[in-house]
Amino acid sequence: MQNEPALNSQKRTVPLHVRILIGLFVGALCGLAANYGSVYATQQGYPRVQQTVEMIAAIAAPCGKVFLRLVFMVVIPLVFSALALGVAGMGDSGRLGRVGLKTFVFAAVLSTIAVLLGVGLTNLIRPGNWLTEQKQAELKEQYAAEAKVAEGKAKTLKEKKVSDLLLNIIPQNPLQEMVGAMDGSSPGGGILSVMFFSLIFGVALTRLSEHAEVMTQWLEGLQAVSMVIIGWAMQLAPFAVCCMVFDLTARLGLSILPPLFGFVSTVLLGLGIQMFLVYPIMLLCFTRRSPIRFFADISEAIWTAFGSSSSNATLPTALRVAQDKLRLPAEEARFVLTIGATGNQNGTALYEGVVVLFLAQVFHVELTVFQQFTVVVMSILAGIGTAGVPGSSLPMIVVVMTSVGVPGEGIGIILGIDRVLDMCRTVLNVAGDLTIAACVSGSHNPAENAV
Ligand code: ASP
Repeated sequence: MQNEPALNSQKRTVPLHVRILIGLFVGALCGLAANYGSVYATQQGYPRVQQTVEMIAAIAAPCGKVFLRLVFMVVIPLVFSALALGVAGMGDSGRLGRVGLKTFVFAAVLSTIAVLLGVGLTNLIRPGNWLTEQKQAELKEQYAAEAKVAEGKAKTLKEKKVSDLLLNIIPQNPLQEMVGAMDGSSPGGGILSVMFFSLIFGVALTRLSEHAEVMTQWLEGLQAVSMVIIGWAMQLAPFAVCCMVFDLTARLGLSILPPLFGFVSTVLLGLGIQMFLVYPIMLLCFTRRSPIRFFADISEAIWTAFGSSSSNATLPTALRVAQDKLRLPAEEARFVLTIGATGNQNGTALYEGVVVLFLAQVFHVELTVFQQFTVVVMSILAGIGTAGVPGSSLPMIVVVMTSVGVPGEGIGIILGIDRVLDMCRTVLNVAGDLTIAACVSGSHNPAENAV
């Protein structure tokens, strides 16, 4: 993708994920020191220390939010362009007949399993509830303004009839939906309607012959510009993470660690199950490959994905692995892997489901069955609409959060550890693409895949 240089402009210097981790540790250490220092000072009769810490935290929080605002700013253009392009790419696949259809079906099945896994595990483990009631109230107070808007939205959602909610997904005026999507003031289904419009737009694009190229180029341009802006935002991420983690730990102390630990464990457990149970089952069902051998063969792509946090950057390695190690037909592998790098992101979809439910638990937002269903559907779509570059799922997560009444700014809570989890989910995204490529090929030529 043209925009990668912008996102990866961390070259000569310390890699971005290392800088973010440094920001995380500096913010956490300073925040914890401030928290315990102020408690101790208050006990010793120096209440001023507590006030000073609160003042510093109040300055740090908006600094962190600059990063978030930059990301929020491009949500609408990104959702529209990425989703329309993703679907148009899949639609193109219609021309490739059998392979295209199989790719689509495998991608849909794997994404659905991934999101259900993430949502199921988060409902089971409930890491967001590992925060004490008092700390939960403090956190809610911290995000009071956003929480109020989000709660209002959730309430309206709960009061509406399911038939109306479903009908609202089809927008009367997509532009009006776009305008109100971020603050919940849109008259219809908000971002869900924007997604619907983008899907229809993408499908219609595949039916064009004359103007298809111009429109595709325009959408690619829009997506590339959005990604450049996210790239700039990512450069601020280490500082933003430091500020937000400081703000969080200075107010809540160590009590934020257990839920975060629970969150990370839930994500890793979900990714692990998908990688080491679901993918092998698919391989055994549709190819004659040994899953162990398969993972050994694709290890180079796995490490590249882990190191780069980018499905797109891993594409050349994945293509080489598919041809040289897995011995898949070249044209077919190129087709499946190129579409998969953007359109099939199981790890991202799973992660999005977990984040939204985790933060809903943290903010005590009870999600109805319909809202959980919305999270599942939107996470699957977000998996299609997320570009294969580092951190690109963040805007999508905010979209899903706000649509079910979870304050979007709350994403700051997980931001510090997001980059490390990005490395892990990208591994799943790339392994998923290679699994699909093997299954597609194996499903119409099993003998070829006997290894
Ligand atoms: N970094 C992921 C990928 O490239 C996308 C994301 O989840 O942010 O596949």
